[in-house]
Amino acid sequence: MQLPDYKEARKRHQAKVEKETYVFDNDAVNIGLNKTYHIKTYGCQMNEHDSENIKAMLEQLGFTEEEDMEKADLIILNTCSIRENAHNKAFGMLGRLKHLKEDRKDLIIGLCGCMAQEEKVVEELMKKYKYVNLVFGTHNLHRLPYILNEAFKTRKQVIEVYSKEGNIVEGIPVKRANKFKAFVNIMYGCDKFCTYCIVPYTRGKQRSRDKDDILKEVNNLVKQGYQEVTLLGQNVNAYGKDLDIDYKMENLLEDVAKTGIPRVRFMTSHPWDFTDNMIEMIKKYPNIMPSVHLPVQSGSNKILKLMGRKYTKEEYIKLFDKLKTIPNVTISTDIIVGFPSEEESDFEETLDLVNYCKYDNGYTFIFSPREGTPAAKLKDMSTLEEKSDRLHRLNEIMNKYFLESNQKMVGKVVDVLVDGPSEKEGMLCGYTDTNKLINFVGDESLIGKIIKVEVTDAKTWSLDGKQK
Ligand code: SAM
Ligand code: SF4
Repeated sequence: MQLPDYKEARKRHQAKVEKETYVFDNDAVNIGLNKTYHIKTYGCQMNEHDSENIKAMLEQLGFTEEEDMEKADLIILNTCSIRENAHNKAFGMLGRLKHLKEDRKDLIIGLCGCMAQEEKVVEELMKKYKYVNLVFGTHNLHRLPYILNEAFKTRKQVIEVYSKEGNIVEGIPVKRANKFKAFVNIMYGCDKFCTYCIVPYTRGKQRSRDKDDILKEVNNLVKQGYQEVTLLGQNVNAYGKDLDIDYKMENLLEDVAKTGIPRVRFMTSHPWDFTDNMIEMIKKYPNIMPSVHLPVQSGSNKILKLMGRKYTKEEYIKLFDKLKTIPNVTISTDIIVGFPSEEESDFEETLDLVNYCKYDNGYTFIFSPREGTPAAKLKDMSTLEEKSDRLHRLNEIMNKYFLESNQKMVGKVVDVLVDGPSEKEGMLCGYTDTNKLINFVGDESLIGKIIKVEVTDAKTWSLDGKQK
């Protein structure tokens, strides 16, 4: 049994991160024969991509995927810790699974992802959720076959969570959810330690992948006919800073663009590391999509300082203005309201910033204290009612700008990568190069292709169009 330790997770060790190759556990071969699995994924794209790895490892062991969770022999919850409600969802699901397990004693239940990295969560799983058979963390995903094999053999609760990040493991198999859009990790972890954020604890120190491994993966995707890659990391602009070579995000962006993949996206960008050269690369290569997610978090310098964001409102605006020189660019953001000591005047500064930036899209959150982070210890000034009111007022303004941004598209002909059937019956949907969701009538044979669509109508969250 190996349990998480927050003190250890907080440390940043100087030791060089090595590269390892995934080794298949021969002892576990066939443990999944005639058995099915179901994975429930919470949280960000990083988790979605981890689930793609988990699925492939399980299929190597003989398991097959079961769409209906209630029928699966193995259920894994890949969890998220970013806010309290993500926690609540996962614990709520564990409650449901308890009943399922009462009816089906052979059911195996696993929990992994960011929540598994939390001391308190694991303590609770050991005390109150003994029916969870296996718990593994974000640093030892590749050990799943061993851990599962042990759970099968011992029929006891197996917990293996490393607090210190390990090496970078290459060669973990992947079952991609999509046949034309792929996530490619370019780095793991985060060293920014924004005071509200749990990610540096649950995902460990920043570790950039070797550029040759990334480019090999992208080239393989090109060969397979993939149309889009999203380069993933908590703070992709800091790519390469932890390596001994003079090769940074702008170089990687250029090399990925040169592979010829039709669409390159990247996320998430921290304003601190966004360089002028990156902006030049986006302008230079038409296959680097003109769409940037640039979380601001707050428009008040007092709050930005308390958040440890390392930039001021003025510096953010300077970068924002530079980004706006990219033709047709769309910029989205993340904003937190109700951070400890946020006063009405601070919140109004956030509204001023939103009125200046007129974002094309974005996500807004109420501050959620995460145990173990510095902000969780700060004195909270506002009531939940005030926070909800601020969120509501912020959303009204943000939504107005989303609609305006979409309305500007009406009458234009745009390139759309067709995703699949739309939620609107009888229609297809896809994304423009500027990352706007668009619905239109079309034949299913268009799925996976980039086509021309004329924008005919605009809503707050999507566009309507007709194929040209
Ligand atoms: N690495 C990215 C960055 O620096 O912007 C974002 C990572 S996080 C998965 C996504 C968003 O969740 C953040 O931008 C932030 O707005 C929000 N978030 C993180 N911790 C939070 C907390 N404790 N309470 C509320 N929102 C939070
Ligand atoms: Fe969290 Fe992003 Fe800040 Fe890292 S940069 S600590 S992931 S909010």
